[in-house]
Amino acid sequence: MQTPKARIALVTGANKGIGLEIARQLGKAGHLVVLGARNATLGETAAGALRVDGVDARFIHIDLDKPATIQAAAAVIDANHDRLDVLVNNAGIADRLDGPPSKASIDAVRRVFDTNFFGTLAVTQAMLPLLRKSPSARIVNVSSELGSLTHNGDPAWAFAQYKFLGYNASKAAVNMLTVQLASELKETGIKVNSADPGFTATDLNNHRGSQTILEGAAAAIRLALLTDDGPTGGFFGANRAHPW
Ligand code: NAP
Repeated sequence: MQTPKARIALVTGANKGIGLEIARQLGKAGHLVVLGARNATLGETAAGALRVDGVDARFIHIDLDKPATIQAAAAVIDANHDRLDVLVNNAGIADRLDGPPSKASIDAVRRVFDTNFFGTLAVTQAMLPLLRKSPSARIVNVSSELGSLTHNGDPAWAFAQYKFLGYNASKAAVNMLTVQLASELKETGIKVNSADPGFTATDLNNHRGSQTILEGAAAAIRLALLTDDGPTGGFFGANRAHPW
């Protein structure tokens, strides 16, 4: 249960996939984990499973597409914990009507941006006052190597065939959020970084990913647990930095 020293972590989209594993590992590292999910039943079930596993996990309703739920969640965290030490912006979607620039459905591109970028921005803005109350807060934006402009322009890149305009651009926009926010917060103790999970078998890609969820969570966990001499404003996979 919560000790006075427990750091408070919020992970969005934590009812399954990489987010659930990030929540589990942050809990095992001693954090009180606030597990964000848009579906209350799935969120409560996931938080319950983590508690059985010895993690101090609490479900909170956050739908990135519903700003009122984001504001309400910030108010609940403020009332219950008075601060936030770690924010992992993990929730994200792909869309089957997304695709290369000549063919992508514009509605699909908008849907992906609404969740992956505007939703992430809204959560970040809502939680920032709480993060400012922490002596050493960490913001981890779960991005993707697919968001690298450099890689997208390289025909020899291993994932060169994955040209999803909405998804890739939404993650490039998340990376811009990382860079600009890190710069804005450079005089504070708050570090902001983008994490690339790598191609991980989850529902997002119908489990075609080559990595396990454990591997997929590694970059975000490292950035969430950074010490005060760690980097800010960077873009990292589990073992290496990525080009923007
Ligand atoms: P996943 O298993 O599909 O999990 C996505 C999570 O995001 C789910 O909990 C989902 O909730 C939640 N979510 C989606 N839209 C939401 C919304 N509007 N509000 C709140 N939560 C929402 O996928 P994943 O692979 O673990 O993805 C996690 C993150 O990693 C995403 O940002 C993804 O882009 C990124 N990523 C994944 C890979 C990969 O290979 N898997 C690679 C690079 C980056 P529901 O259960 O309610 O749908």
